[in-house]
Amino acid sequence: MQPTKLTFDLGMELRWQITIRGVVQGVGFRPFVHREAVAHGLTGQVVNTGQGVVIEAQGEETALARFVTALREQAPAAAVIQELTILSLPLVTESAFVIGHSVAAGPPSAGIPADLALCADCQREFFDPTDRRFRYPFINCTNCGPRYTITRAIPYDRPQTSMATFAMCDQCRAEYENPTDRRFHAQPNACPVCGPHLWLTDAQGQLLAEKEAAVVATAAQLRAGAIVALKGIGGFHLAVDATNHEAVQRLRQCKGREEKPLAIMVRDLARARQLCQLTAAEEALLDSAAAPIVLAPKQPAHDLSPAVAPGSDRLGIMLPYAPLHHLLLAEGPDVLVMTSANLSEEPICIDNSEALQRLGAIADCFLCHDRDILIRADDSVVWHLAGASRVIRRSRGYVPRPLRLAGEGAAVLGVGGELKDTVCYAKGDQAWVSQHLGDLKTLTAFSFFRETVAHLGRIYQVTPELVAHDLHPAYLTTQWAREQAGVVQLAVQHHHAHLAACLAENHYDGPAIGVILDGTGFGPDGTIWGGEVLIGDRGSFRRFAHLAPMPLPGGDAAVAAPWRTGLGYLYVAYDGVVPELPFLQGHDAGTIVAMLQRGINCPATSSCGRLFDAVAAIAGGRPTIRYEAQTAIEFMQAAGTLAGPAFPFELVAEHDTLIVEVGPLIRAVAETVRGGAILAEISQRFHRTMVELWCEVVQRAAAATGLRVVALSGGVFQNQLLFTGLMKRLQAAGFTVLAHRELPVNDGCIAFGQAMVGRAYMER
Ligand code: ZN
Ligand code: ZN
Ligand code: FE
Repeated sequence: MQPTKLTFDLGMELRWQITIRGVVQGVGFRPFVHREAVAHGLTGQVVNTGQGVVIEAQGEETALARFVTALREQAPAAAVIQELTILSLPLVTESAFVIGHSVAAGPPSAGIPADLALCADCQREFFDPTDRRFRYPFINCTNCGPRYTITRAIPYDRPQTSMATFAMCDQCRAEYENPTDRRFHAQPNACPVCGPHLWLTDAQGQLLAEKEAAVVATAAQLRAGAIVALKGIGGFHLAVDATNHEAVQRLRQCKGREEKPLAIMVRDLARARQLCQLTAAEEALLDSAAAPIVLAPKQPAHDLSPAVAPGSDRLGIMLPYAPLHHLLLAEGPDVLVMTSANLSEEPICIDNSEALQRLGAIADCFLCHDRDILIRADDSVVWHLAGASRVIRRSRGYVPRPLRLAGEGAAVLGVGGELKDTVCYAKGDQAWVSQHLGDLKTLTAFSFFRETVAHLGRIYQVTPELVAHDLHPAYLTTQWAREQAGVVQLAVQHHHAHLAACLAENHYDGPAIGVILDGTGFGPDGTIWGGEVLIGDRGSFRRFAHLAPMPLPGGDAAVAAPWRTGLGYLYVAYDGVVPELPFLQGHDAGTIVAMLQRGINCPATSSCGRLFDAVAAIAGGRPTIRYEAQTAIEFMQAAGTLAGPAFPFELVAEHDTLIVEVGPLIRAVAETVRGGAILAEISQRFHRTMVELWCEVVQRAAAATGLRVVALSGGVFQNQLLFTGLMKRLQAAGFTVLAHRELPVNDGCIAFGQAMVGRAYMER
């Protein structure tokens, strides 16, 4: 007998059923399992089911254990293993490891993967002149390519995608059907013979060039300073050479976007390093399969047009993710402004004729293709802050990846609020948060909301028992929710939704102390909330402390003109006798004071965002904004490094609520300005004040309740000085601090929070 045979016979042979849940379909998982099983000398099979991937593997116990470790540690980049369970089975007689047929039975929790950036293998083929897909802009494999944005329904299979209209050629089909091929069941598989193609038109839709010639012509247009509308993965972009100042300015003018920073796409990491100071974590984010826009600190000197991100100390930067991007950045300028193709605040364009119609006045030419985009998805935005990557806008590359919840619960829908809206379905132990839908103030934008509610509900087959919406009666989302028949309707206070979202994302059931620092949210008392310390859990909350309500002269007009807010706060702080301050020069203060005196159109708010606006304006910051929170962002960037003392503040107990009086703070700021202090000093001292103030309120909440867990949420925490400062301070004081990572800290988390409050309601 051969010694090897003897060893084999004596080894303990077992058969395991390994079930893996998570994002394991459409990401090259089965070929990966097959390779690993063969490498570990195992027999058995792997199949896709509605629940995920089910493996039966047979072999020596140690080989099985090593196989499971490999599954966990070496899974394809885009796979997310949420759960792996092992059951023992009786041994069977078999001689190989095979990829079995998909089993469609069971509820579809496996879902559709997110869109994936071009992988390294495809990139090699793409630039290899001997490869049959050399420079073919629709190259992909099971490890990369579009997914969510081309899929109409589940199961994720070619007939359900916009690739259904392209019949695979023999060579593509052979790859698609070969279990050991990298393109085995790669649904968007295509080649120049059988797949989609590109063409370039002028603004009137007249054909200028096709296929390869279209790429060459587009690159030439970009080099010459043209504005090009490019059809990408989740929609059209408007692209211009980012080093061409005239072109960037013309784009801003045409798009009606005055100063808000524009995202850029660079040829490679080396080029990115010339523009941004990147950490290893930021480089990993840029290079990830999700390929988001990463907000990273600008290099002090660079060759970009100053109009790309005026006044901002960060750049929104990304790497090419579609093959077409790689081509254009290789042929044309090596850094492009790439901004969503829309007029400000409208949904991104996805359709060829829609693009011509809506963008005809903006773009000089249109690079289109015939692979339809079925679902809109903007580029995602992330940054790395306080030791973790944190998503600011969750869209392409992340959606529709489910969030795993701590427990089971009812099927519910959260419709969000009004700004930076998302919608969220939850069912069982999973939640699906939609892509960023934007601000739902117009009917055009609102149609994107309806589209998404219907689509997500269909692909995950969720029939909600409850629809959760905001307390604000006038929001379009509230009105839509109230029209839904046959479901429980639940109004959720905006900041309670923030708290619930932060707790649930961290799998913490509460209760906790929620520090919710925000712009705007409708309170049950009819005032605008936004500087709140809540005590609560998913089910309920009480308002432990809040900023004292202050007047907002003109309401929304004050949000757009922080000098008005500053004046309103001074008016209250000085009992109606406003002192002379430099920031009021050149403004019609008299009219605003008259409004304040009569209380006309001066809604009261405890918003923390408005406190930042007011202090920044009084200190001499930007009096009016051209994009959201511009004054506060610039004020934060101005903070000096000198460690001046905090400004005074006052906490006043009123019944069972703690009121943070801001009068002493505003007066101290005003006096410091009159004493000749510069913006840098006031900014640094104000940020320090905010950290000390909220830490003190948390200490009081902890003393009153015994709670030691603090959740941070609300858009003001996008201020990194406040976020990192308060986090460190609370941790040093022994608190456990919960913060967002996967979901935005801004209103992008509201729908998820509403859904979590809705589930708690159904539990009662
Ligand atoms: Zn690939
Ligand atoms: Zn083909
Ligand atoms: Fe909010």
